[in-house]
Amino acid sequence: MFKVKAYATPAPDAPLAPFSFERRDPGPHDVRIDILYCGVCHSDLHQARDDWGGSLYPMVPGHEIVGRVVAVGEHVTKFKAGDLAGIGCMVDSCRRCEPCEAGEEQYCCEGFTGTYNSRERETKNLTFGGYSEQIVVEQRFVVKVPENLDLKAVAPLLCAGITTYSPLRHWKVGKGQNVGIVGLGGLGHMGVKLAKAMGARVTMITTSPEKGKDALRLGADEVLVSRDDEAMKKARGKFDFLLNTIPVGHDINPYLALLKLDGAMVLVGALTALDPVQGVNLIFGRKTVAGSLIGGMAETQEMLDFCGEHNIVSDIEMIRIDEINAAYERMLKNDVRYRFVIDIASLKA
Ligand code: NAP
Ligand code: ZN
Ligand code: ZN
Repeated sequence: MFKVKAYATPAPDAPLAPFSFERRDPGPHDVRIDILYCGVCHSDLHQARDDWGGSLYPMVPGHEIVGRVVAVGEHVTKFKAGDLAGIGCMVDSCRRCEPCEAGEEQYCCEGFTGTYNSRERETKNLTFGGYSEQIVVEQRFVVKVPENLDLKAVAPLLCAGITTYSPLRHWKVGKGQNVGIVGLGGLGHMGVKLAKAMGARVTMITTSPEKGKDALRLGADEVLVSRDDEAMKKARGKFDFLLNTIPVGHDINPYLALLKLDGAMVLVGALTALDPVQGVNLIFGRKTVAGSLIGGMAETQEMLDFCGEHNIVSDIEMIRIDEINAAYERMLKNDVRYRFVIDIASLKA
């Protein structure tokens, strides 16, 4: 065992504060990684504050992790000391069920083991995430990071990137399609960049006219302000596909109206109850509402390679670890452009 410094929260209503704990020494299949950068996902905030129930404390959040390998176990073939490595939302799963065998570990029938706010399958010890100096993870759940990208801006790809890439691929988004990305935050801005790189015509659908202007710089072809009733009316029946990243329960009926015949809207943000859906809004137009959860390990690697090829990274604002509580408050006010990333050097100092 070895000691690591971290930031943790002891309870839903407490701020994050310095904390230290012990990690296991690398086993035969494990990779020990010195963390360089960790992105701040809205899910960190949801779980730290127990928005979804069942949170485990103390909690060291962080599942957008990029670092360098410092040691590997004897059976590790994918990595050697000095390599770049990434870790996302999962560190384990049952590996035997149908989804696991299909490489969709995020849908493991026994539930995947989260990078934090979860328990290790064998020891039942709490898992602790990336707001920490180092992490030890089995190689199957570690991905290779392209060398050509700006490392600190790669970190958010490990959750925001894969969570938007996976549904765009699953619903075969591409050339000739009108795609709308709802909510311009960490996930939304990655959705715009990825859908654009896949060849779609992309509209950013935002509550903020101010941020909307910026969406064009991020690569969106058009902007639709969801609070502008007239503009929403004009856009009815326009979209083949909508990716909805709104982090709270809301009324999806106005967005369903934007879909054309056979259109689909995929929810990735709201885990809690939605307002009632009018059946007529689905039936007239044979429309689909679906959900999607991160992506499997193979697909996460595919996404990173795709980003390497297309030179895609996140737009980030770097923070020190002691600024994390203020960053959470800003995230609650939709005031992030477009992902906070913690410089883990500030924790080691
Ligand atoms: P974020 O950076 O805070 O962005 C969310 C954006 O949604 C905001 O910037 C805002 O965009 C819009 N928004 C917020 N409240 C809204 C409201 N009441 N009505 C309409 N729009 C609203 O969050 P994020 O990190 O992208 O995460 C988004 C959600 O996805 C979170 O709930 C997170 O837990 C979840 N998530 C899910 C998965 C998965 O696997 N499914 C993975 C990661 C995260 P505008 O200012 O442009 O309107
Ligand atoms: Zn996340
Ligand atoms: Zn499984």
